[in-house]
Formats: sequence, structure tokens, C-alpha cells
Amino acid sequence: MASDSSLSEGFLTTRVDAVVNWARSNSLMPLPMGLSCCAIEMMAFAAPKYDVARFGSEAMRFSPRQADLMIVAGWVSYKMAHTIRRVWDQMADPKWCIAMGACASTGGMHRCYGVVQGCDNFLPVDVYISGCPPRPESLIHALMDIQEKVRNEYSVAQDGHFGNEMPAAAAARPKVLSSVGADAINPDGLYHQQ
Ligand code: SF4
Repeated sequence: MASDSSLSEGFLTTRVDAVVNWARSNSLMPLPMGLSCCAIEMMAFAAPKYDVARFGSEAMRFSPRQADLMIVAGWVSYKMAHTIRRVWDQMADPKWCIAMGACASTGGMHRCYGVVQGCDNFLPVDVYISGCPPRPESLIHALMDIQEKVRNEYSVAQDGHFGNEMPAAAAARPKVLSSVGADAINPDGLYHQQ
């Protein structure tokens, strides 16, 4: 980062990857693959109460050419799986995928011949969301996980690094996941990075 003196002179130093990843992570465009009941929660995620515009992802896109985050919300029949895979293949790289809910992640209660037992059978899933149905907050949490993953990616720098593992970037959000123990929810943990 730039020193105070360089800032006063109007300079800011950073990495190309950091800028590219920052822009990407704050402008993910979801492709809503709403297949059943979980889709209602996904709609709430973009509606005013949960307001995913705060994360730059309110622009749902129904064309794979304009989206980089597929959200599979609901159980997937074998018939539909072919279509989903075709849409996924039409999305340009880099792209990410969220399996929303028990059904998309594992088939859920639909333990039958017509339902794919988890969309990771035909898609590379980045984040799974548990629950039936998961609340919109869970989807926001998954979006933040994707954002963190994007911020940790190296593209330009990796090219000149001779294949060595690049260090992970610092976590960009607070760890607030538990009601007990060291990560217990408390006001300080909610609003300050750890
Ligand atoms: S996880 Fe529950 S809410 Fe979501 S698609 Fe399956 S049955 Fe419906």
C-alpha cells in the first residue's frame, strides 16, 4: 500500500490483480437458475428487504453471455440437468456457481430416479448452501464467500510466479458464524474485522 507521503502526492500503489479482483468481486452478475421452492428465497435476496445491491449483485441476468455467477436454486431433474449444463457452458470464464439448498446440493428429500443427487454431478460448484429452504441471508453469505474467493485469485501475478503457490489475501469480512466459543456472535464481531 502507498505510504502517507505518496498519498499526499496523489499516488496509490497496488497490484493489477487486486484491482481486477476488487472490481470483479463487487460486480458479480447472477444467473438465477430458479427450479423450485428455493427460487422464492432467491427472489427475496434481490428484493428491497435484503437488497443485494449492497454487494453489487442485484443485476440478475437471464442470458449466460451477461452473467458470471450461476445460482442453482431447487432440485434438478435429469431432464433439466442437460439444459443447465448447456447454459453453464455458454457463460464466459471466469464464472462461479452456488448450489442453493439441500436439493441443489444433494438431491435433498427427493431420493428418486428422476432427480440428480446434487448438481455437482454435472457442474463445478464453488459454494453449497444448506437448509430447506435456506434464508436469503444464507445466499448473501454464500455470495460473500464467492467474493472472498474472487479476491484471493491470481491471474496476472501467477503468470510470472513460476507456478508457486501464491499467498492468500487477508479475509475481507468479519468471522461471525457461531453462537458459542471464540467465534461467538457479539456486536464487536459483527462490525469489526478480525
Ligand atoms: S431445499 Fe427445500 S425449499 Fe429448496 S428446493 Fe428443496 S424442498 Fe424446495
